[in-house]
Amino acid sequence: MRTFICFATFLFGISIASSQNFTRQDTLRGSITPERAWWDLNYYHLDLSVDPDRKFISGSNTIRYKVLDKAKVMQVDLQEPLQIDAIHQDGKKLKFKREGNAFFITLRKEQRPGEFNSLKIEYSGHPKEAVRAPWDGGFSWKQDPNGDHFVATSNQGLGASVWWPNKDHMYDEVDSMRISVTVPKDYMDVSNGRLERIEEKGDQTTYHWFVANPINNYGVNVNIAKYVHYGETYFGENGTLDLDYYVLPENLEKAKKQFTQTPMMIRAFEHWFGPYPFYEDGFKLVEVPYLGMEHQSSVTYGNKYENGYLGRDLSGTGWGLLFDFIIIHEAAHEWFANNITYRDIADMWVHEGFTSYAENLYLDYHFGKKASADYVIGCRRSIQNDRPIIGPYGVNHAGSGDMYAKGANILHTLRQLVEDDELWRQILRGLNKEFFHKTVTSEQVENYISEKSGKDLSAFFDQYLRTTMIPKLQYKLEENTLQYRYVDVVEDFDMPVRILVDGKEQWIFPNAQWKSEPYMGNGLEVDRNFYIEHEKI
Ligand SMILES: [Zn+2]
Repeated sequence: MRTFICFATFLFGISIASSQNFTRQDTLRGSITPERAWWDLNYYHLDLSVDPDRKFISGSNTIRYKVLDKAKVMQVDLQEPLQIDAIHQDGKKLKFKREGNAFFITLRKEQRPGEFNSLKIEYSGHPKEAVRAPWDGGFSWKQDPNGDHFVATSNQGLGASVWWPNKDHMYDEVDSMRISVTVPKDYMDVSNGRLERIEEKGDQTTYHWFVANPINNYGVNVNIAKYVHYGETYFGENGTLDLDYYVLPENLEKAKKQFTQTPMMIRAFEHWFGPYPFYEDGFKLVEVPYLGMEHQSSVTYGNKYENGYLGRDLSGTGWGLLFDFIIIHEAAHEWFANNITYRDIADMWVHEGFTSYAENLYLDYHFGKKASADYVIGCRRSIQNDRPIIGPYGVNHAGSGDMYAKGANILHTLRQLVEDDELWRQILRGLNKEFFHKTVTSEQVENYISEKSGKDLSAFFDQYLRTTMIPKLQYKLEENTLQYRYVDVVEDFDMPVRILVDGKEQWIFPNAQWKSEPYMGNGLEVDRNFYIEHEKI
């Protein structure tokens, strides 16, 4: 059975069909324009008031930045129908021009390289409502079972500028951020990082959150409900880590049971990927009215307190029902998405490939190697090979939804090639060290793996990430000779493969030319751990 279950298949299946003609708006959103390149983000203070009765928001974002080059015009993004009401720098009002979702602000003060400056942008409006969160994005204005407001934001792909003004490109992460959210009294806002203080004024309450680490724009979130809170302490590789949970009151008991998977998840991923990357900010699971999203240090959860993906096993093997997909998948993004972040959404497999792969590493840690292999191989059934995994650069456009299951199987195949689980683990941990709190390209990740594994993997990555071809191993058995070659491969593709001859493991070294070697067996099998096709001719 072919199922369409992965995020990207949903999220990007739609945008891809309709948007091969890129517009100037796509370029303004997706490239490092001259009006973005001259300044480096340092700090945001997003100060926002949310009125759920009117579905209306208003507030400001203060942007502090370092001047890299002299310039006069700055690009900041905010999507319609929201409006910028005023922009000030050093008490002076600035002029700006709107072009779709991009605002070009003319600065009055001389921008001297090396200096830190800030400006404050006031804005308001009825933000775009998410219809199918998190696939489309915007504000979800929902009600909990008691009829109280249950509000959340989500905006991966679409961009954080759908609800707040910012430099909406992934290459430049802000170094720290304060998020102040004012909500009607009796409600609580949960955002990223740590809760600094609560301010009550009349019939409104303001929650001030502070994120001490770099954060990508799409990770920033607002969640509003009549939450109850509980927490626990985890002793991990970097010391004491606070785990906090915010759920609807009626789900507290279910959460206390289901969320016992959180420390199990941290243990498995610290083993494979290294220390949780945001100890200072703690880790939170926050219940929301949609399925879930990897909001940094504030992972949102809506998987109905069931194991699997809304109760289903993506792999069809049964192993997927041994864990809560949203806890495991979304939290793995703390390492691959929030720690190591793509510079361009074209390289989104760096998030989703590694995170889908993390699902099987979680199984490996807690249930063993066979469980993990069964699971990741089972997930192949959703691979479409419709388009390459890497998308076009500079236009805010992701590649194929195959970045999930195929991405995971690429990494599983690599583990076989490395043939040393401890070295493979050190490579995964090394990635999280080398690119700690950084934005990266796929190429940087590929080069790192090649270098640390001591293998030139350039043809391997080109084959699997940049084409839709699955290497096919053709072989013949004749007169005590095994002949074999690859078809459907890029130039220089020569991945070794493990075969089993009468159950005994043996490596062969195919390329696009026929090769032969002596064969004395009665039966030949290709190791299922390699993501290739094979054909006896
Ligand atoms: Zn994901």
